Amino acid sequence: MGGVADRRQTQRSHQLAKPRPIAPTAQGTDKKPQKLIPHLPFADQSLGWRDWVCAMLYLSIAAAQRALGGRWRWPHFCVAELACRCAGRFCAGAYYHDTEFLDGLEALRRAAGRALVINSGHRCDQWNAAVGGAPLSEHKRIAVDVSLVAHDRHELARMAAACGFTGQGFARTFLHLDRRARPASWFYKGARERWQT
Ligand SMILES: [Zn+2]
Repeated sequence: MGGVADRRQTQRSHQLAKPRPIAPTAQGTDKKPQKLIPHLPFADQSLGWRDWVCAMLYLSIAAAQRALGGRWRWPHFCVAELACRCAGRFCAGAYYHDTEFLDGLEALRRAAGRALVINSGHRCDQWNAAVGGAPLSEHKRIAVDVSLVAHDRHELARMAAACGFTGQGFARTFLHLDRRARPASWFYKGARERWQT
């Protein structure tokens, strides 16, 4: 008896595991579902191959502008404001291009409905050390410190979370934002009281 019950159990779980057929939608009921390439998580299939999700480091603002100029699709941001601010001391304005990060930033700009002033974007290793950044700071790839001037800080943080910014650092005058695998948030020195009001 036990054996039969076990087999039934197995069959049932097997049935549950089967993928369900996709229900036809109101529009285009007879269209086959679009085939997605699983390892490329880009959102808009109408975009060309050059617009696929990508992340790479450019060694200077000029190099990044040359390479990306024709396919820059984030109207509220530019390479220069997201590049390293060491002003030639350690690099030529290194810039870390990450399309998903930019999509999140543009979405946040739309949600906020007003300018996001970037105090700090990418930092080259030496500049990160010079400004006292954490050795493994996300700024060494791409993170932004957004000025809180003219923003409701709590509202901005809430919207940033909704736009995929999983790393948030709360400072007195800025909000640090990055996208990390394991969400984290923290207060910078002396900022906790300000964020509690
Ligand atoms: Zn630099």
